Amino acid sequence: MTAPLFEKVALIGIGLIGSSIAINIRDRGLAREVAVATRREATLRRAEELRLGTSFHLDPAEAVRDADLVILCLPVGSCGAAAAAIAPHLKPGAIVSDVGSVKGAVVDQMRPHLPAHVHFVPGHPIAGTEQSGPDAGFLELFENRWTILTPLPDTDEAATERLRALWLATGAMVEVMTPEHHDLVLAIVSHVPHLIAYNIVGTAADLETVTQSEVIKFSASGFRDFTRIAASDPTMWRDIFLTNRDAVLEMLARFSEDLASLQRAIRWGDGDALFDLFTRTRAIRRSIVQAGQDTEEANFGRLKPRRDPWNEGAPGE
Ligand code: NAP
Repeated sequence: MTAPLFEKVALIGIGLIGSSIAINIRDRGLAREVAVATRREATLRRAEELRLGTSFHLDPAEAVRDADLVILCLPVGSCGAAAAAIAPHLKPGAIVSDVGSVKGAVVDQMRPHLPAHVHFVPGHPIAGTEQSGPDAGFLELFENRWTILTPLPDTDEAATERLRALWLATGAMVEVMTPEHHDLVLAIVSHVPHLIAYNIVGTAADLETVTQSEVIKFSASGFRDFTRIAASDPTMWRDIFLTNRDAVLEMLARFSEDLASLQRAIRWGDGDALFDLFTRTRAIRRSIVQAGQDTEEANFGRLKPRRDPWNEGAPGE
């Protein structure tokens, strides 16, 4: 248990990311009080049952009162409206952050609303699952995963350091970069791969020559791993593509060029070109495992089906 880093933290939004932050704050003693706000009564009640905070609010303005750290844990497209709602109620000197997967658009949406007397330090934990809602959170989500902070040129460095300390206490590693650079990096490591997964699963679903039951039956040959990504939350991913448009389009253009040259290699039987690429990509996979960002275990080390002796044949996730 660490000494509390903050007196009062307000979490606006309590889904996968908000609840994982809440559990970290509670179980590691990182703040004395946690005010939870969310828009739907049912989500708020569930957060209360799960003891994710010390006070619970449907009005975010109430939650941020006297908070020294406010973190918006909302879909990217909702951050502007939330910033407008909380702005007049923020305590002078408070740190305001978020966890959105796109940073430039969040800065553009939130900055105009925030008063000069708060410190704005946008953030993004690169950790997630395809689950949503307050039940999805868990203590270890951020462990050994990167959180990127994107303070603005005029952000007080001490505020960034206080927020860094919170993320480090969750077990995360922290890097600081500009919002623009964040968006380019994430476009290639996360956003375009998700788009490819959504696209390939959509294509398979629309095929007429291969039946849906065959797609499902033989999915372990590669398709299955795309379906995990393509099961990600539709609201979150719609907002990511709408708000990181330029960086995604730039990376997609590069991707399409490279895909065309692979297509050419296949058409002309250029086995060397294919072999060279597949050898280079294998090395990237090895580097990711060596960097501790994945494991060599079968099934990418993902959760094995839990055995329920009372209900054999219905394994959990
Ligand atoms: P989530 O589990 O779906 O939870 C979303 C939360 O936002 C809920 O409290 C929900 O409230 C609220 N919300 C949804 N739509 C809203 C709206 N239009 N206006 C106000 N509140 C709204 O989401 P999450 O996975 O935690 O994602 C939250 C943020 O983290 C997103 O910006 C995402 O980009 C980022 N992120 C996600 C992941 C991931 O893998 N999931 C990873 C890193 C970062 P109600 O339930 O009350 O409606």
